[in-house]
Amino acid sequence: MPTEDLRRETERVLMPTYAPSPISIVRGRGSRVYDLEGREYLDFVAGIAVNTLGHAHPDLVAAIQKQAQHLLHASNLYYTEPQVKLAKALVDHSFAKKVFFCNSGAEANEAAIKLARRYAHQKHGPDRYEIITMLNSFHGRTMATLTATGQEKVQKGFEPLVPGFRYVPLNDLPELEKALSSKTAAVMLEPVQGEGGVHVADRTYLKGLRELCRQHDVLLVFDEVQTGMGRTGTLFAYEQLGVHPDIMTLAKGLGGGVPIGACLATDEVAAAFSPGAHASTFGGNPLSCAAALAVLRVLLEGRVLEQSRRMGDYLAKGLFDLKDRLHIVKDVRGLGLLQGMELTIEGNPVVDDCLARGLLINCTMERVLRFVPPLIITQHEIDRLLDTLSQVLIKRV
Ligand SMILES: *Cc1c(COP(=O)(O)O)cnc(C)c1O
Repeated sequence: MPTEDLRRETERVLMPTYAPSPISIVRGRGSRVYDLEGREYLDFVAGIAVNTLGHAHPDLVAAIQKQAQHLLHASNLYYTEPQVKLAKALVDHSFAKKVFFCNSGAEANEAAIKLARRYAHQKHGPDRYEIITMLNSFHGRTMATLTATGQEKVQKGFEPLVPGFRYVPLNDLPELEKALSSKTAAVMLEPVQGEGGVHVADRTYLKGLRELCRQHDVLLVFDEVQTGMGRTGTLFAYEQLGVHPDIMTLAKGLGGGVPIGACLATDEVAAAFSPGAHASTFGGNPLSCAAALAVLRVLLEGRVLEQSRRMGDYLAKGLFDLKDRLHIVKDVRGLGLLQGMELTIEGNPVVDDCLARGLLINCTMERVLRFVPPLIITQHEIDRLLDTLSQVLIKRV
Protein backbone atom coordinates (compact mmCIF):
# COMPACT_ATOMS: atom_id res chain seq x y z
CA MET A 1 0.00 0.00 0.00
CA PRO A 2 1.49 3.41 -0.93
CA THR A 3 2.58 5.52 2.06
CA GLU A 4 -0.07 8.17 1.46
CA ASP A 5 -2.82 5.50 1.48
CA LEU A 6 -1.33 4.01 4.65
CA ARG A 7 -1.54 7.40 6.31
CA ARG A 8 -5.18 7.82 5.30
CA GLU A 9 -6.15 4.29 6.33
CA THR A 10 -4.26 4.62 9.63
CA GLU A 11 -6.31 7.69 10.46
CA ARG A 12 -9.49 5.88 9.44
CA VAL A 13 -9.10 2.59 11.34
CA LEU A 14 -6.55 3.08 14.13
CA MET A 15 -7.29 4.86 17.39
CA PRO A 16 -5.48 8.20 17.37
CA THR A 17 -2.96 7.42 20.12
CA TYR A 18 0.10 8.16 17.96
CA ALA A 19 1.13 10.77 15.40
CA PRO A 20 3.54 8.74 13.20
CA SER A 21 6.24 10.24 10.99
CA PRO A 22 5.24 10.04 7.31
CA ILE A 23 7.33 7.03 6.29
CA SER A 24 6.42 3.37 6.00
CA ILE A 25 9.22 1.09 7.21
CA VAL A 26 9.24 -2.24 5.39
CA ARG A 27 12.52 -3.91 6.30
CA GLY A 28 15.76 -3.50 8.20
CA ARG A 29 19.28 -4.84 8.37
CA GLY A 30 21.76 -4.09 11.12
CA SER A 31 21.42 -0.44 12.12
CA ARG A 32 19.58 0.55 8.93
CA VAL A 33 15.90 0.44 7.99
CA TYR A 34 14.32 0.95 4.58
CA ASP A 35 11.03 2.57 3.66
CA LEU A 36 8.52 1.60 1.00
CA GLU A 37 10.26 3.75 -1.61
CA GLY A 38 13.59 2.05 -0.83
CA ARG A 39 15.10 4.99 1.03
CA GLU A 40 17.64 4.02 3.71
CA TYR A 41 17.61 5.39 7.25
CA LEU A 42 20.25 5.10 9.94
CA ASP A 43 18.30 3.94 12.98
CA PHE A 44 19.03 5.73 16.27
CA VAL A 45 15.57 4.89 17.60
CA ALA A 46 15.74 1.07 17.35
CA GLY A 47 12.01 0.72 17.88
CA ILE A 48 12.39 2.82 21.07
CA ALA A 49 15.36 1.00 22.59
CA VAL A 50 14.01 -2.40 21.55
CA ASN A 51 16.04 -3.74 18.61
CA THR A 52 19.15 -4.36 20.70
CA LEU A 53 20.82 -6.51 18.04
CA GLY A 54 19.70 -4.30 15.18
CA HIS A 55 17.41 -5.59 12.46
CA ALA A 56 17.39 -9.13 11.06
CA HIS A 57 20.26 -10.35 13.25
CA PRO A 58 20.96 -13.87 11.94
CA ASP A 59 21.06 -15.53 15.39
CA LEU A 60 17.76 -13.98 16.42
CA VAL A 61 16.10 -14.83 13.09
CA ALA A 62 17.33 -18.43 13.34
CA ALA A 63 16.11 -18.82 16.94
CA ILE A 64 12.64 -17.53 16.04
CA GLN A 65 12.42 -19.71 12.92
CA LYS A 66 13.53 -22.79 14.79
CA GLN A 67 11.13 -22.31 17.67
CA ALA A 68 8.21 -21.47 15.34
CA GLN A 69 8.63 -24.86 13.68
CA HIS A 70 8.17 -26.65 17.01
CA LEU A 71 5.83 -24.74 19.28
CA LEU A 72 4.63 -21.14 19.50
CA HIS A 73 2.52 -21.32 22.58
CA ALA A 74 1.28 -23.82 25.14
CA SER A 75 0.26 -21.62 28.15
CA ASN A 76 1.68 -21.76 31.66
CA LEU A 77 -0.46 -24.77 32.53
CA TYR A 78 2.46 -26.89 31.28
CA TYR A 79 6.26 -26.81 31.40
CA THR A 80 8.05 -25.36 28.40
CA GLU A 81 11.82 -25.49 28.18
CA PRO A 82 12.65 -22.10 26.60
CA GLN A 83 10.96 -20.32 29.52
CA VAL A 84 12.99 -22.17 32.15
CA LYS A 85 16.21 -21.68 30.19
CA LEU A 86 15.59 -17.95 29.88
CA ALA A 87 14.70 -17.58 33.56
CA LYS A 88 17.86 -19.48 34.47
CA ALA A 89 20.00 -17.26 32.26
CA LEU A 90 18.49 -14.09 33.78
CA VAL A 91 18.96 -15.41 37.31
CA ASP A 92 22.55 -16.48 36.56
CA HIS A 93 23.42 -12.97 35.41
CA SER A 94 21.60 -10.81 37.94
CA PHE A 95 20.93 -10.30 41.66
CA ALA A 96 17.58 -12.05 41.23
CA LYS A 97 16.58 -15.60 42.05
CA LYS A 98 13.08 -15.76 40.53
CA VAL A 99 11.39 -14.50 37.36
CA PHE A 100 7.82 -13.85 36.26
CA PHE A 101 7.26 -13.42 32.51
CA CYS A 102 4.75 -11.18 30.76
CA ASN A 103 4.54 -9.29 27.48
CA SER A 104 5.42 -5.63 27.97
CA GLY A 105 7.03 -3.06 30.22
CA ALA A 106 3.75 -1.90 31.71
CA GLU A 107 2.84 -5.47 32.58
CA ALA A 108 6.25 -6.11 34.11
CA ASN A 109 5.79 -3.03 36.31
CA GLU A 110 2.22 -4.04 37.12
CA ALA A 111 3.65 -7.36 38.36
CA ALA A 112 6.31 -5.51 40.38
CA ILE A 113 3.70 -3.26 42.00
CA LYS A 114 1.48 -6.23 42.86
CA LEU A 115 4.44 -8.21 44.21
CA ALA A 116 5.64 -5.31 46.38
CA ARG A 117 2.17 -4.72 47.79
CA ARG A 118 1.59 -8.38 48.49
CA TYR A 119 4.98 -8.77 50.16
CA ALA A 120 4.30 -5.74 52.37
CA HIS A 121 0.78 -6.93 53.20
CA GLN A 122 2.03 -10.33 54.24
CA LYS A 123 4.95 -9.03 56.24
CA HIS A 124 3.61 -5.80 57.74
CA GLY A 125 -0.18 -5.86 57.35
CA PRO A 126 -2.69 -4.07 55.10
CA ASP A 127 -1.61 -0.50 55.97
CA ARG A 128 1.69 -0.86 54.11
CA TYR A 129 0.72 -0.32 50.50
CA GLU A 130 2.23 2.97 49.41
CA ILE A 131 4.70 3.12 46.53
CA ILE A 132 6.96 6.13 46.15
CA THR A 133 7.99 6.97 42.58
CA MET A 134 9.90 9.83 40.96
CA LEU A 135 8.66 12.98 39.25
CA ASN A 136 9.24 12.75 35.47
CA SER A 137 9.36 8.97 35.67
CA PHE A 138 7.71 6.68 33.15
CA HIS A 139 6.38 3.26 34.07
CA GLY A 140 3.67 2.48 31.52
CA ARG A 141 0.08 3.12 30.47
CA THR A 142 -2.06 0.70 32.48
CA MET A 143 -3.98 2.29 35.35
CA ALA A 144 -1.47 1.32 38.04
CA THR A 145 1.59 2.12 35.94
CA LEU A 146 0.28 5.45 34.66
CA THR A 147 -0.42 6.30 38.30
CA ALA A 148 3.16 5.29 39.15
CA THR A 149 4.34 7.54 36.31
CA GLY A 150 5.21 10.95 37.77
CA GLN A 151 3.88 12.99 34.85
CA GLU A 152 0.50 14.72 34.84
CA LYS A 153 0.19 14.59 31.06
CA VAL A 154 0.11 10.77 31.18
CA GLN A 155 -2.59 10.77 33.88
CA LYS A 156 -4.84 13.60 32.69
CA GLY A 157 -8.40 12.52 31.95
CA PHE A 158 -8.01 9.03 33.45
CA GLU A 159 -8.86 9.93 37.05
CA PRO A 160 -9.61 8.54 39.54
CA LEU A 161 -6.08 7.16 39.69
CA VAL A 162 -5.06 4.09 41.67
CA PRO A 163 -4.66 5.03 45.36
CA GLY A 164 -1.40 4.57 47.23
CA PHE A 165 1.23 6.36 45.13
CA ARG A 166 3.28 9.43 45.95
CA TYR A 167 6.02 11.27 44.09
CA VAL A 168 9.38 12.80 44.94
CA PRO A 169 12.06 14.49 42.81
CA LEU A 170 14.87 12.25 41.54
CA ASN A 171 18.27 12.59 43.24
CA ASP A 172 16.81 14.34 46.30
CA LEU A 173 17.40 12.12 49.32
CA PRO A 174 15.97 14.50 51.97
CA GLU A 175 12.65 14.65 50.04
CA LEU A 176 12.58 10.88 49.81
CA GLU A 177 13.27 10.55 53.52
CA LYS A 178 10.35 12.91 54.23
CA ALA A 179 8.02 10.85 52.04
CA LEU A 180 8.88 7.55 53.72
CA SER A 181 6.43 6.42 56.37
CA SER A 182 5.04 3.32 58.06
CA LYS A 183 2.77 3.07 54.97
CA THR A 184 5.62 2.75 52.47
CA ALA A 185 5.86 -0.63 50.78
CA ALA A 186 8.35 0.24 48.04
CA VAL A 187 10.33 2.87 46.21
CA MET A 188 10.29 2.43 42.45
CA LEU A 189 12.52 4.21 39.94
CA GLU A 190 14.37 4.01 36.65
CA PRO A 191 18.19 4.04 37.05
CA VAL A 192 18.12 6.38 34.05
CA GLN A 193 14.81 8.06 33.28
CA GLY A 194 14.19 7.43 29.59
CA GLU A 195 10.86 8.90 28.51
CA GLY A 196 11.21 11.59 31.18
CA GLY A 197 14.09 13.31 29.39
CA VAL A 198 17.15 11.11 30.08
CA HIS A 199 18.06 11.85 33.70
CA VAL A 200 20.63 9.61 35.40
CA ALA A 201 20.22 8.64 39.06
CA ASP A 202 23.35 9.65 41.06
CA ARG A 203 25.42 6.88 42.58
CA THR A 204 25.46 8.60 45.98
CA TYR A 205 21.71 9.08 45.84
CA LEU A 206 21.15 5.42 45.03
CA LYS A 207 23.47 4.37 47.80
CA GLY A 208 21.56 6.51 50.31
CA LEU A 209 18.26 5.27 48.92
CA ARG A 210 19.33 1.65 49.24
CA GLU A 211 20.34 2.24 52.85
CA LEU A 212 17.06 4.02 53.71
CA CYS A 213 15.07 1.19 52.15
CA ARG A 214 17.03 -1.34 54.18
CA GLN A 215 16.48 0.57 57.42
CA HIS A 216 12.72 0.86 56.89
CA ASP A 217 12.27 -2.60 55.35
CA VAL A 218 10.99 -0.94 52.19
CA LEU A 219 11.51 -2.70 48.85
CA LEU A 220 13.63 -1.08 46.17
CA VAL A 221 12.23 -1.60 42.66
CA PHE A 222 14.29 -0.76 39.59
CA ASP A 223 12.36 -0.28 36.38
CA GLU A 224 15.03 -1.39 33.89
CA VAL A 225 12.55 -1.75 31.04
CA GLN A 226 14.61 0.73 29.03
CA THR A 227 18.01 0.56 30.75
CA GLY A 228 18.24 -3.24 30.91
CA MET A 229 19.68 -5.71 28.40
CA GLY A 230 22.92 -3.87 27.75
CA ARG A 231 21.45 -0.47 26.90
CA THR A 232 23.72 1.37 29.35
CA GLY A 233 26.87 -0.70 28.74
CA THR A 234 26.36 -3.41 31.35
CA LEU A 235 23.67 -6.09 31.11
CA PHE A 236 21.67 -4.17 33.74
CA ALA A 237 22.25 -0.54 34.70
CA TYR A 238 22.29 -1.29 38.44
CA GLU A 239 25.58 -3.18 37.99
CA GLN A 240 27.47 0.07 37.40
CA LEU A 241 25.52 2.15 39.91
CA GLY A 242 26.77 0.33 42.98
CA VAL A 243 23.44 -0.92 44.37
CA HIS A 244 21.10 -3.74 43.60
CA PRO A 245 17.33 -3.68 43.89
CA ASP A 246 14.91 -6.20 45.43
CA ILE A 247 12.74 -6.23 42.32
CA MET A 248 13.68 -5.38 38.72
CA THR A 249 11.56 -5.15 35.60
CA LEU A 250 12.63 -5.73 32.00
CA ALA A 251 10.93 -5.52 28.60
CA LYS A 252 11.90 -3.37 25.59
CA GLY A 253 15.28 -4.87 24.59
CA LEU A 254 14.66 -8.25 26.18
CA GLY A 255 13.28 -9.98 23.09
CA GLY A 256 15.20 -7.89 20.55
CA GLY A 257 11.86 -6.95 18.93
CA VAL A 258 9.66 -9.86 19.99
CA PRO A 259 7.27 -8.71 22.76
CA ILE A 260 8.28 -9.99 26.19
CA GLY A 261 8.53 -8.53 29.68
CA ALA A 262 9.87 -9.86 32.95
CA CYS A 263 9.68 -9.08 36.64
CA LEU A 264 12.67 -10.38 38.63
CA ALA A 265 13.03 -10.58 42.39
CA THR A 266 14.95 -12.08 45.28
CA ASP A 267 13.76 -15.41 46.68
CA GLU A 268 12.32 -13.81 49.79
CA VAL A 269 10.26 -11.24 47.89
CA ALA A 270 9.13 -13.64 45.15
CA ALA A 271 7.73 -15.96 47.83
CA ALA A 272 4.90 -13.44 48.33
CA PHE A 273 3.35 -14.79 45.11
CA SER A 274 1.58 -18.16 45.22
CA PRO A 275 -0.35 -20.09 42.55
CA GLY A 276 -3.20 -17.90 41.35
CA ALA A 277 -1.77 -14.66 42.77
CA HIS A 278 -0.71 -13.38 39.37
CA ALA A 279 -0.80 -14.71 35.81
CA SER A 280 -0.40 -14.01 32.10
CA THR A 281 -1.71 -16.18 29.26
CA PHE A 282 1.07 -15.30 26.82
CA GLY A 283 3.73 -14.60 29.46
CA GLY A 284 6.94 -16.51 28.81
CA ASN A 285 5.68 -18.36 25.78
CA PRO A 286 8.21 -20.47 23.87
CA LEU A 287 8.56 -18.09 20.92
CA SER A 288 9.31 -14.96 22.95
CA CYS A 289 11.59 -16.85 25.33
CA ALA A 290 13.58 -18.43 22.49
CA ALA A 291 14.04 -14.94 21.04
CA ALA A 292 15.15 -13.46 24.37
CA LEU A 293 17.56 -16.34 24.94
CA ALA A 294 19.16 -15.66 21.57
CA VAL A 295 19.49 -11.96 22.45
CA LEU A 296 21.07 -12.76 25.81
CA ARG A 297 23.54 -15.20 24.24
CA VAL A 298 24.68 -12.68 21.66
CA LEU A 299 25.06 -9.98 24.32
CA LEU A 300 27.01 -12.20 26.68
CA GLU A 301 29.07 -14.25 24.28
CA GLY A 302 29.39 -12.02 21.26
CA ARG A 303 31.31 -9.08 22.77
CA VAL A 304 28.37 -6.83 21.99
CA LEU A 305 28.31 -5.41 25.51
CA GLU A 306 31.98 -4.52 25.38
CA GLN A 307 31.58 -2.87 22.01
CA SER A 308 28.44 -1.01 23.08
CA ARG A 309 30.25 0.43 26.10
CA ARG A 310 32.92 1.87 23.84
CA MET A 311 30.33 3.19 21.43
CA GLY A 312 28.37 4.76 24.29
CA ASP A 313 31.48 6.69 25.35
CA TYR A 314 32.17 7.69 21.78
CA LEU A 315 28.60 8.91 21.23
CA ALA A 316 28.59 10.88 24.50
CA LYS A 317 31.89 12.53 23.61
CA GLY A 318 30.58 13.50 20.18
CA LEU A 319 27.41 14.98 21.66
CA PHE A 320 29.45 16.95 24.22
CA ASP A 321 31.57 18.33 21.36
CA LEU A 322 28.37 19.57 19.71
CA LYS A 323 27.32 21.14 22.99
CA ASP A 324 30.63 23.04 23.15
CA ARG A 325 30.07 24.36 19.62
CA LEU A 326 26.36 25.16 19.62
CA HIS A 327 24.64 27.34 22.22
CA ILE A 328 21.21 25.79 21.46
CA VAL A 329 22.48 22.58 23.07
CA LYS A 330 21.77 23.04 26.74
CA ASP A 331 22.83 19.70 28.18
CA VAL A 332 23.99 16.20 27.28
CA ARG A 333 23.09 13.34 29.63
CA GLY A 334 23.02 9.58 29.62
CA LEU A 335 24.67 6.26 30.24
CA GLY A 336 26.02 3.94 27.56
CA LEU A 337 23.85 3.92 24.47
CA LEU A 338 21.00 5.76 26.16
CA GLN A 339 21.92 9.37 25.52
CA GLY A 340 19.90 12.57 25.59
CA MET A 341 20.60 16.06 24.28
CA GLU A 342 18.52 18.84 25.76
CA LEU A 343 17.98 21.78 23.43
CA THR A 344 16.85 25.32 24.13
CA ILE A 345 14.43 24.91 21.19
CA GLU A 346 11.67 22.45 20.25
CA GLY A 347 13.03 19.03 19.31
CA ASN A 348 10.41 17.77 16.88
CA PRO A 349 11.42 19.99 13.93
CA VAL A 350 14.98 18.70 14.41
CA VAL A 351 13.67 15.13 14.34
CA ASP A 352 11.82 15.90 11.08
CA ASP A 353 14.93 17.43 9.50
CA CYS A 354 16.98 14.38 10.46
CA LEU A 355 14.32 12.09 8.97
CA ALA A 356 14.54 13.98 5.69
CA ARG A 357 18.30 13.34 5.75
CA GLY A 358 17.96 9.62 6.36
CA LEU A 359 18.42 9.56 10.11
CA LEU A 360 15.91 8.33 12.68
CA ILE A 361 16.09 9.98 16.11
CA ASN A 362 13.42 10.65 18.67
CA CYS A 363 12.41 13.52 20.95
CA THR A 364 11.05 13.26 24.46
CA MET A 365 9.77 15.93 26.88
CA GLU A 366 9.55 18.42 23.95
CA ARG A 367 13.20 19.46 23.99
CA VAL A 368 15.29 16.38 24.62
CA LEU A 369 16.64 14.49 21.63
CA ARG A 370 17.07 10.84 22.56
CA PHE A 371 19.59 8.46 20.98
CA VAL A 372 19.02 4.74 21.59
CA PRO A 373 20.62 2.92 18.64
CA PRO A 374 21.02 -0.85 18.34
CA LEU A 375 23.90 -2.01 20.54
CA ILE A 376 25.76 -3.14 17.42
CA ILE A 377 26.11 0.46 16.19
CA THR A 378 29.55 1.28 14.75
CA GLN A 379 31.84 4.27 15.14
CA HIS A 380 31.32 5.14 11.50
CA GLU A 381 27.55 5.18 11.99
CA ILE A 382 27.88 7.39 15.07
CA ASP A 383 30.04 9.76 13.02
CA ARG A 384 27.24 9.94 10.48
CA LEU A 385 24.70 10.76 13.20
CA LEU A 386 26.94 13.51 14.62
CA ASP A 387 27.54 14.93 11.17
CA THR A 388 23.85 15.05 10.26
CA LEU A 389 22.88 16.40 13.65
CA SER A 390 25.49 19.10 13.41
CA GLN A 391 24.20 20.20 9.97
CA VAL A 392 20.60 20.25 11.17
CA LEU A 393 21.35 22.11 14.42
CA ILE A 394 23.67 24.71 12.83
CA LYS A 395 20.76 25.81 10.60
CA ARG A 396 18.81 26.69 13.74
CA VAL A 397 21.45 28.57 15.70
C1 LIG B 1 8.74 1.89 27.72
C2 LIG B 1 8.79 1.84 29.19
C3 LIG B 1 7.76 1.25 29.93
C4 LIG B 1 6.49 0.72 29.30
O1 LIG B 1 6.74 -0.34 28.45
P1 LIG B 1 5.60 -0.87 27.46
O2 LIG B 1 6.19 -2.10 26.86
O3 LIG B 1 5.34 0.22 26.47
O4 LIG B 1 4.39 -1.14 28.29
C5 LIG B 1 7.91 1.18 31.30
N1 LIG B 1 9.01 1.65 31.91
C6 LIG B 1 10.02 2.23 31.23
C7 LIG B 1 11.22 2.71 31.97
C8 LIG B 1 9.94 2.35 29.85
O5 LIG B 1 10.94 2.95 29.18
